[in-house]
Amino acid sequence: MAFQKVKCIYCVGEHVTKAGRQASKIQRFKCKECKKAFQESYTNSGAKLQIKLLIFKMSLNYLDFGLQLF
Ligand SMILES: [Zn+2]
Repeated sequence: MAFQKVKCIYCVGEHVTKAGRQASKIQRFKCKECKKAFQESYTNSGAKLQIKLLIFKMSLNYLDFGLQLF
């Protein structure tokens, strides 16, 4: 598997260092530019975010549907 360069999720800076792992084995990183820490999973969660948005939209549809019943 090719090494994926990690970028800061806040400032998209490339000066990111590893900052240990959490109990859940998720790699943590720290940005040297904005000094913020973030998790590896955030950087690969684009698909998850799409799913969250989908669920959000679906729940809104249910809400609309529910309101129509009253
Ligand atoms: Zn940063």
